[in-house]
Amino acid sequence: MKLKEIRDKARQFAKPFRVTEGGKFRLRDFDPGDTLDFDSGDKPRAEEALREGVETLARLQDRLYAQDRWGVLILFQAMDAAGKDSAIKHVMSGINPQGCEVHSFKAPSAEDLDHDYLWRCMKVLPRRGHIGIFNRSYYEETLVVRVHPELLARQKLPPCRIDRDVWKHRFQDIRSVERYLVRNGVVVRKFFLHVSKKEQKQRFLERIEKPEKNWKFSAADLAERDHWDDYMRAYEDMIRHTATPEAPWYIVPADHKWFTRLVVAAAVIETLASLKLEYPTIDAAKRKELAAAKRALLKK
Ligand code: ATP
Ligand code: MG
Repeated sequence: MKLKEIRDKARQFAKPFRVTEGGKFRLRDFDPGDTLDFDSGDKPRAEEALREGVETLARLQDRLYAQDRWGVLILFQAMDAAGKDSAIKHVMSGINPQGCEVHSFKAPSAEDLDHDYLWRCMKVLPRRGHIGIFNRSYYEETLVVRVHPELLARQKLPPCRIDRDVWKHRFQDIRSVERYLVRNGVVVRKFFLHVSKKEQKQRFLERIEKPEKNWKFSAADLAERDHWDDYMRAYEDMIRHTATPEAPWYIVPADHKWFTRLVVAAAVIETLASLKLEYPTIDAAKRKELAAAKRALLKK
């Protein structure tokens, strides 16, 4: 299939989940169990589509790396057990590790807290030609920190810098920084893996019951679940204020992991395919140099 066809197909597939204007966004318009026209019997078809998607991504990434102009920032936000790790693992499985870095952002260290909140993320932005994946991100600053105001109190901000507009200001600043990145050739795509409270319960139970999943269980995750409604409000507000045409959010249904992966793959493909990635071409002088090198090599 031609790249243009693949791009159109991927764009079509990802479109229902893409939010480019936050103003009217409501989380309840998005169903975590959505699988479009796939049903559970279609899993093999979905797996085949993902395999094709992964191959296409590898081809596109090769050009991205060779062209060395665009950086690509892909960030994931979600409640616990929504499947961030497995989406990253599967969708990126064909990617050349030389051109891709994954960064996970956990609770900030003492050194992080001694800086502005963007600092730790800005240090590891993807360079040109690379894909940078943020597993959680600076958006935690409008989520966990908003749900737990005591975290904000620990950020060592001068008291006069914390007022009731603090979240509005964070959204403004994040929008500005993303616009800045976009203007500098860093493409920004944001994924919210939208899992239901019911499915999260099932996944936690599995983590408790299956020995090979025990290591994933954390009692702290259970405590966060008690704040579910606060988190949903915070997510909704965050997306309303930070979904823009240049840095859209994708609200990815996350109750079926096989479908989550398809949507993420389609969205990353549409993104890369929209960049008109080309292998660098060489000029006449370089062609002459190559021909001379070949002649010299063949004589030896
Ligand atoms: P897993 O899927 O393995 O549970 P995870 O991303 O949840 O992965 P954890 O180590 O369980 O990783 O949790 C990271 C925790 O760090 C999350 O609860 C998150 O809310 C928290 N965190 C991330 N960024 C910040 C921040 N800026 N301030 C406070 N807490 C943060
Ligand atoms: Mg966790």
